Amino acid sequence: MQAIEITSTGGPEVLRLVERPDPEPGPGELLVEVAAAGVNFIDTYQRSGLYEVALPFVPGLEAAGTVVALGPGAEASGIAVGDRVAWCGVPGAYATVAVVPADRVVTVPDGIGPDVAAAVMLQGMTAHYLTHDTFPVGPGHVCVVPAAAGGTGRLIVQLARRRGATVIGAVGSAAKVDIAAGAGAHHVVDLSATGLAEGVEALVGRDAVDVVYDGVGAATFEDDLRLLRIRGMLVTFGNASGPVPPVPPLRLSAKSLYLTRPTLFHYIAGRDELVARADDLFAAVGAGEVEVLIGERHPLADAAEAHRRLEGRATVGKILLIP
Ligand code: NDP
Repeated sequence: MQAIEITSTGGPEVLRLVERPDPEPGPGELLVEVAAAGVNFIDTYQRSGLYEVALPFVPGLEAAGTVVALGPGAEASGIAVGDRVAWCGVPGAYATVAVVPADRVVTVPDGIGPDVAAAVMLQGMTAHYLTHDTFPVGPGHVCVVPAAAGGTGRLIVQLARRRGATVIGAVGSAAKVDIAAGAGAHHVVDLSATGLAEGVEALVGRDAVDVVYDGVGAATFEDDLRLLRIRGMLVTFGNASGPVPPVPPLRLSAKSLYLTRPTLFHYIAGRDELVARADDLFAAVGAGEVEVLIGERHPLADAAEAHRRLEGRATVGKILLIP
């Protein structure tokens, strides 16, 4: 097999293509030929060392492919050789084949290709839990979504709009405005022309936002707090611009705000929740209610370039590696 491996943390250059012996699936595991692997911002945190991983490490927490072998007992899952499956949260996806626990995969429905399946597992289920469970957004709510043209942001925009909210996206350049608007944002703030708080206040006034779904982190945190209404919620779910510094709880008392820092893996920890969330998402994609934008595809060997582009704010939608 071929895989991208890191033996030390650092910049994109530590991502190297290597040959490895083919893995054997253990008890309850599947061997899957990877058709497409998702590139996610979390991969850059694991590569850089912001999030600790045991080395050597094969990055990639998301993929779709075809089952080519079952480990002992894995047939009890009902999954068979030849089935099309997808997963997220299991490392090792930047590879031609991967070993995955059978209870962490979902079956990909007919009509959804491997690229789209790989593209919606991590970012799609994130958008799903944020809008349905962390802060269940709905009619009458105003929500703000920084990085609204990005992989996760674009999906949050669609799901929030579908649930009836007024959606204000923010993007880092004029070129991304149409991407966020095309996803359904009612308004898009171009951060190359104005600040986030100023841009949103010009649209809805002061202290008018019910929820901010923020994956940008440090750069937007203060503006997020400023925009929220009394008893609003700041959902800070990522660190694309760096991690948010420590905040004293007393800061929140000025408007009785709620602050949460959720992570996907706690919203799909049980198999029932994983399957229900994936089914809901696949149904929405299959029905054309959620549109997945695959912004770019790279060969496995170009993983470093994919990371450079993602960290350089050069991408829109989803980035895939195609082994
Ligand atoms: P994106 O496709 O959204 O790419 C990141 C975007 O962040 C960029 O395109 C850019 O958009 C924006 N950005 C703003 N400032 C910076 C900066 N200084 N450096 C880099 N990017 C910046 O990535 P993902 O969809 O993969 O992830 C988005 C965020 O969501 C990440 O922080 C990620 O960790 C988080 N996440 C968290 C999860 C969770 O459960 N907690 C699960 C999934 C993702 P623009 O130029 O328009 O500002």
